[in-house]
Amino acid sequence: MRIARFTTGEDPMYGIVQEKDGQDMVYGITGDPLYTEIRPTGTIHPLSEVRLLAPVIPRSKVVCVGRNYAAHAAELGNEVPEQALFFLKPNTAVVGPGDPVMLPAYSQEVSLEAELAVVIKRMTKDVTAAQVPDHVLGYTCANDLTARDAQRAEDQWFRAKAFDTSCPIGPWIETDLDPSALRITSTVDGEIAQDGTTADMVRPVAELIAEISTVVTLLPGDLVLTGTPAGVRTAPPGSVVEVTIEGLGTLSNPMVRR
Ligand code: MG
Repeated sequence: MRIARFTTGEDPMYGIVQEKDGQDMVYGITGDPLYTEIRPTGTIHPLSEVRLLAPVIPRSKVVCVGRNYAAHAAELGNEVPEQALFFLKPNTAVVGPGDPVMLPAYSQEVSLEAELAVVIKRMTKDVTAAQVPDHVLGYTCANDLTARDAQRAEDQWFRAKAFDTSCPIGPWIETDLDPSALRITSTVDGEIAQDGTTADMVRPVAELIAEISTVVTLLPGDLVLTGTPAGVRTAPPGSVVEVTIEGLGTLSNPMVRR
């Protein structure tokens, strides 16, 4: 099932994206699927006539992992760390499909990072890897935009990773997906940048979430970004970046200099 958040000009609402007679449609649902049973409102819109929004705004946080694909660690001159390298993005970094990424004034080198994002379904603390599937609502595409020059300049990655609009997600949450071997690609203005597979993660989804849950409590709607494959590159102002994950869809965002 594909859960989208969208607007037709009124207040945002949730819907289920399904094909009907060869056309993708959005079936409106009541409430918030993280907290309420999925019940149709009876409204139907062609997908092409709605504006998709970030499918979830995390209640508390986005937890990310660095260097979780060996070839990407190597391309930036890093080793795969012995301990998973976690960091946070604030929920104010999250934007949706088509939303502009506002390049921060202090960076001349903002890079794209295509990532599989996990949407947490229920409170998650001290779980085992085997328990993780019960805590996952679904998956979406994410772009962990990174001010590479700021990242080189400081040990903490606040300026590099946490700036407003640095975490586009979408186009929707896919609830029926096996995350273990999905093709993941990115492009800049249609030119291929990354072309990898989630099978190359050093630490798989369940292991990451179990380990994160030993540190913090994950809340419903929180996101876990699972690292990026090799091929990252700077996305200049005026370019359009796309992240595509097999079985999920494509997330597209323009890069804009404020
Ligand atoms: Mg990343």
